[in-house]
Amino acid sequence: MKLSWQRLRIRPKHRFATSQWHTDEKETIVLQLEHAGVVGEGEIVPSSLYGQSLESSEAALAAARPLLGDDPFAIEAIVQRLTAELNDQRATVDGLDAALHDWVGKKLGVPAWRLLGLEQPRKQTTFTIGVADPELTRTKVDEALAAGFDALKIKVGTPTDDDTLGYIRSKFDGPLFLDANMAWSPREAGARISALARYRPTIIEQPLDRADWEYMQPLRGLGVAPIFADESCERPADVVRLHGYVDGINIKFNKCGGIREALKMIALARGLGMKVMLGCFVCSSLAIAPALTIASLVDYAGLDGALLLAEDPYEGIERTGGLLSLSDAPGLGVRRR
Ligand SMILES: [Mg+2]
Repeated sequence: MKLSWQRLRIRPKHRFATSQWHTDEKETIVLQLEHAGVVGEGEIVPSSLYGQSLESSEAALAAARPLLGDDPFAIEAIVQRLTAELNDQRATVDGLDAALHDWVGKKLGVPAWRLLGLEQPRKQTTFTIGVADPELTRTKVDEALAAGFDALKIKVGTPTDDDTLGYIRSKFDGPLFLDANMAWSPREAGARISALARYRPTIIEQPLDRADWEYMQPLRGLGVAPIFADESCERPADVVRLHGYVDGINIKFNKCGGIREALKMIALARGLGMKVMLGCFVCSSLAIAPALTIASLVDYAGLDGALLLAEDPYEGIERTGGLLSLSDAPGLGVRRR
């Protein structure tokens, strides 16, 4: 298999910020796996939260070369070698996992979702309103509603929470997902969450620091909304550890390593009676397509990473209001514009 890669520059339409960080412009890495005249593509979206950078990802790609072997159909075996050898560089595993599914689908002339025995992806996504000053927040909310999004995700944990949520609830009665991105201490979280009850949240995501996961258990008893772990839940073993402490988990492909590892997390969570959502970072449609491929298996999807861009370098994902769908094009179903 021949492996090559390039950096990809992408820019959000508005500065994208949470209670912890912001993005004005970023780079991801697009990789190509070529074998037998067919090219599979994937995108690496490194996150510093998980010890990943562009540089560490490129080093991991170089280290991955001898692990790929000469049979791209053996996706599971390849991904197991990659996860064993690349340590924290799961964003790189994710990009390679995506390219392998794309390659096999294109080689066989079938979409990746069909390869996996799944139904055609057609999933409602939340649209994220990042942290911003009140005026820009209102503009973003108005734009999201005008664009037909029917589930919103709000980054909370800032002094402007009440202003933002009050404005949204004056115009929007639909599902509202609140993500604190680790903003609160165990001492204050109960009061903070109780104060958000009047906005009728659908879920509350990662109220505490990722190391404070044990303190999320009593927050479930507040009865405000199901408590989901995001930063505290990276890989399959984390699902087992978190059972009983949270109601659900947010799976992201750059945390776990792509489709194969995500399927294991979903199976574990389902077996343990936990809810599941799929999330993402700001990225192009090339990194959204693999997650959308398996989105029929989860309760909620926050796959708006490419919808936040001023221009998406990849096309192929259809959007109708808040509904994202993939066609029956072979592989991941997206291509460079
Ligand atoms: Mg989150």
